[in-house]
Amino acid sequence: GSAESWRSFSMANTPNESGRVELVVKLIPGGAFSNYLKNTAEVGDDIEVRGPYGQFQLSETSADIVMVAGGSGMAPIMAMLSQLVAEKSSRNIRFFYGARACKDLYFLDEIQALGSQLNSFEFIPALSALDDEDDWHGETGFVTEVLEKHCTSLRGAEGYLCGPPPMIDAAVGVLKGKGMFNARIKFDKFIQNT
Ligand SMILES: Cc1cc2nc3c(=O)[nH]c(=O)nc-3n(C[C@H](O)[C@H](O)[C@H](O)COP(=O)(O)OP(=O)(O)OC[C@H]3O[C@@H](n4cnc5c(N)ncnc54)[C@H](O)[C@@H]3O)c2cc1C
Repeated sequence: GSAESWRSFSMANTPNESGRVELVVKLIPGGAFSNYLKNTAEVGDDIEVRGPYGQFQLSETSADIVMVAGGSGMAPIMAMLSQLVAEKSSRNIRFFYGARACKDLYFLDEIQALGSQLNSFEFIPALSALDDEDDWHGETGFVTEVLEKHCTSLRGAEGYLCGPPPMIDAAVGVLKGKGMFNARIKFDKFIQNT
């Protein structure tokens, strides 16, 4: 319904599923597209889609993988995990996910189901602003602080990052500080539409 502007979303399903595009869309207060989806869209409506664009895809190597996501940045990470499962990958994978409170965590069952099919997978959620009622025994603080704490040398490893620009910038700094090569860091940065 908004012919003059486009919105960017990262695909959450694997590339081999033709004819279907899965998205994880955050409801933005006052957001034109996300509120259209919630309030107006109906099954059977036509939506114009273009893409895919970008280079945010898994490299065909056996290098260790560090994934970092925040908010709806979970979307392409789920696609990558599904792909790694489909490939029966034996790569070492760590997935750091940043959110504010317990209510902001989602896809936990899906992540566990994918992780259980992988040879070496660790999911490390980090919460930065717990609610009073949260009964949380996991990591606290910004996901980038938790990343810093958990990782030793990342020389030779690959980084896949998705989420808001400040998180990506901070995470890239941490990964490089641990020895990860710039060329091995890929990200989908959720810059806002102007
Ligand atoms: C490469 C790329 C991939 C992306 N992938 C995803 C994805 O998978 N899922 C997803 O939910 N989003 C994703 N985004 C972000 C998404 O494109 C924007 O949030 C988009 O503006 C939402 O559209 P909207 O019409 O609902 O809100 P808009 O009408 O565009 O925005 C309304 C108001 O909210 C502000 N705003 C927009 N986005 C945010 C935000 N994230 N947080 C706080 N304020 C905001 C705007 O500046 C504006 O003032 C991606 C962005 C990029 C560039």
